[in-house]
Formats: sequence, structure tokens, C-alpha cells
Amino acid sequence: MTRTIAAHTGKATSLMAVPMLDERKKSISCGGGSGHSIACGKESTAGAMSQRACVFCGARVVLNPITDAFHIIHGPIGCSSYTWDIRGSLTSGNDLFRHSFCTDMNDMDVVFGGEKKLARAIDQAVSTHHPKVIFVYATCIAGVIGDDVESVCKAAEQRHQIRCIPVQAPGFSGHKAQGYRLAGDAIMALIGTRPFPRAKAHGINILGDFNLAGEQWIVKNYLKSLGIDVVTGITGDSNCAELMQAPQAQLNVVQCAGSMIALARRMEADLNIPYIKVSFYGIEDTSTSLVHIAQALGNPDIVDRTKRFCQFQINQLKPIVKRYKSQLSGKKAAIFVGGGFKAISLIKQFRELGIQTVMVGTQTGSAEDYDVIRSLVHDDCVVLDDATATELEKFMTERGADILVGGVKERPLAYKLGVAFCDHNHERKHPLAGYVGVRNFAEEINASINSPVWAYV
Ligand code: SF4
Repeated sequence: MTRTIAAHTGKATSLMAVPMLDERKKSISCGGGSGHSIACGKESTAGAMSQRACVFCGARVVLNPITDAFHIIHGPIGCSSYTWDIRGSLTSGNDLFRHSFCTDMNDMDVVFGGEKKLARAIDQAVSTHHPKVIFVYATCIAGVIGDDVESVCKAAEQRHQIRCIPVQAPGFSGHKAQGYRLAGDAIMALIGTRPFPRAKAHGINILGDFNLAGEQWIVKNYLKSLGIDVVTGITGDSNCAELMQAPQAQLNVVQCAGSMIALARRMEADLNIPYIKVSFYGIEDTSTSLVHIAQALGNPDIVDRTKRFCQFQINQLKPIVKRYKSQLSGKKAAIFVGGGFKAISLIKQFRELGIQTVMVGTQTGSAEDYDVIRSLVHDDCVVLDDATATELEKFMTERGADILVGGVKERPLAYKLGVAFCDHNHERKHPLAGYVGVRNFAEEINASINSPVWAYV
């Protein structure tokens, strides 16, 4: 039943009435740090128009940056176009991943089944592109009619002697985080579960960085200058051969924990690789993460070098941040992003610029993420999981946000409200990670918030 309620903050009279389903109340706290814990990690509420992506999208965005993999979507063309070149992931080699291949299932396939068509598509992919690995995604229609994608892939592996890995990801079978887990399973199916001798292990794997706008290259350069080897990125700018080396790493560092924590746990259980969580967004989190990586590797010289490196970078950035802070102090920000780690880093980044976060939410944040978020924000901040566009609009308007940070689905919402916008999602073309990202972020936020255009909207 839909009701219009006054959102609760202890100052309810100051709030605009926000239309929402009763079931949504547990996932929204209007009391910031002193509000209630956030219900999350569950299916979207039926009838609420969630901003969250589907299971298939979750799986595809994680696997897509593997540069020499072939991705076949077994479903209608819409599923394929929806996720075509979805990330601004850059490659230093093959660019096969930037194409989108699909069996384009139609009404005849629904009636007679699409397995033969899928087998023909795999044969054609092998003969024309010679891929080393093919990921086959079963989307909603294939799931509804019950095509046996697993058997088709198994037969194709025997026929062609290559890896052909099924990803059973009908959009209706859960939510985006389920797709992340399926992608992790597919990666494990590729790299195997044979542990590498720990005494010979070296370097790190970077999990959950997708090399958007070359961000992984920035982080890799920092690590290289500190004497830390990167075995492979999972999955940014990776390829099949590099992924097969992943078991050799001494440590996994997990940036986007929402998408990669399940894989990190499996790699710890099956391959004896420990993991730590990191974030390379903002001065504070970038510096802390680099030092934590150095400490986890246990080399005191590298720890010392890392601390000196971070201090040097911080000193370089101080005058730049000070300049932007003078132009941004007192502004208010709203955040709605995919995972909790990014929301946490963004709150800190805004704080560094003198900006207060007045609304923050994610598509797939965990209870642990939301506890950290609530500990960072002001008591008037709205914290919400798996929001609808209506909720975002109402809370942003009511809280007087000057800028929204989000992805492609949130951009039109901000512009229609006459509010500045910062794209911090897959599609962006400029790096926001590392120390160079701090500068880019401050520049972009300042240009967007202080643009003269808002006086005319
Ligand atoms: S919800 Fe289903 S039909 Fe829509 S994109 Fe996802 S898998 Fe395809």
C-alpha cells in the first residue's frame, strides 16, 4: 500500500512529505549518524521503481573489462545494447571486449528454444575471432524458457578446446549484487582452485578496479614506484593469460568491495590469498590504502618509502585543495552510487572541500558500509539503500543539495531539478582515482556547482 509519510528525523515538521511504500521505511534513515540502521542487501521492493541494475548487468560490468574475452549475451538484443561498452575501461592491448555479441532471441526462439542458435553463435565466434575464453550470459528470456546454457557451453568447450563459461544471470533472479557473485564464480572457473606455493607468492592483485579512464594505470604507477608488483587487475585492463597468474599473488587488495568481496573470500578460501579492503578515491583513503598495502606485504623499507611518498603527494595537493575549498565551503552534496566504498570515500572528499553531505545512498551497500556511512555524516543527513528516483528527488530538494554525484541514470534527474551533477560511474572519461583524481574531482565539482548556468534554470 502506498502512503505519504513525513520522513522521521526528530524534526519531522521541517521535512517535506515523501511518498514511499511502507516496506521502504527500514531502508531509509533521515537521522544521519543518530538514525536507525539501514535494511539492505535484499530484493528491491515490488512496486518501487528502483534505480538498481539487474543481475545480468551486475555480472557483465564486472567481466566486461577482460580485454581479450568474448562476451555472448543469450537473450534479446536489448540486454546486449543495455550493457554495450558500458564502462569507460581502457585497454593496453586487445579491444575485443568493447564489442557486444548477442543471439538476439526472438519469438521463434521462445517457442522452439534457443540452444541450437547459441551453439551456432559460439561456433561463429570461435571461427571468426579465435577467442581464448567466451563468457555466455543467460538473460531473462533464456531463463524463462529454460535453455540449458550450461550444457551448450560444455559441448562447445569439447568441440573447440577453449574455455566457454556460462553465467546464468536472468535479470529477475535477484539483484545487481547477485550478478557480482556470478561474475566472481566465472572468474574462479577460469583461474581454477589450485593454490600456488605461498613461499613463492609475490606482488598483489587489484580487485574491483575496472581501469575507468586509466585509473588502474595511475595506481599501478604509484605501486611500481614504491617497489610493489601488480600480478593482475581483476578485471580492469586484464586478459586471460594474466588472470591465470592471479593465484601467484601474495595479497589481494579489494577496491570495489561490493562487486569483489565474494571473489576475495573465495580466493582466500581456495587459494590461500589474504585480502584487505582499499579505496583510491580522495587524499585520506588513497594514502591510507597505500600504507595498508605496504604494511600487509610486511617490508619495512617499502612501508617507510610509502609514507614518505604519500606525505609528498599530500603536500603537493594542499594549496590546490585550499583554493577550491574557499570556493566550495558551505555547499551541500547528495550522493547515490553503486557501492558503499565509493560513498564512504566521497563523504570524506566532500568534507576535505568544506562540503556537507546531506543525502547518501547506494545500490548495493552492505550493513557494514552503512554503519561507517552513518558514523561519518551529520545528524540531518538522509541515508538510504536502493533508492527510487522519487525518493532521490524529494530528499535532494528538501535538503537543498547543490550537487548530485551518481551515474547515468541519476544525471537527468539532477539536471531536471536544476542541480549540478558529477558522473562518478562507469561512463566517465576522466580519472578520479589517486592524487591526480583529487585534483580532477575538485576541479569538476567547482566547475559544476559554480557554473553560471544554474542562475538561468
Ligand atoms: S532485466 Fe532481464 S531483460 Fe532486462 S536487461 Fe536485465 S536480463 Fe535483460
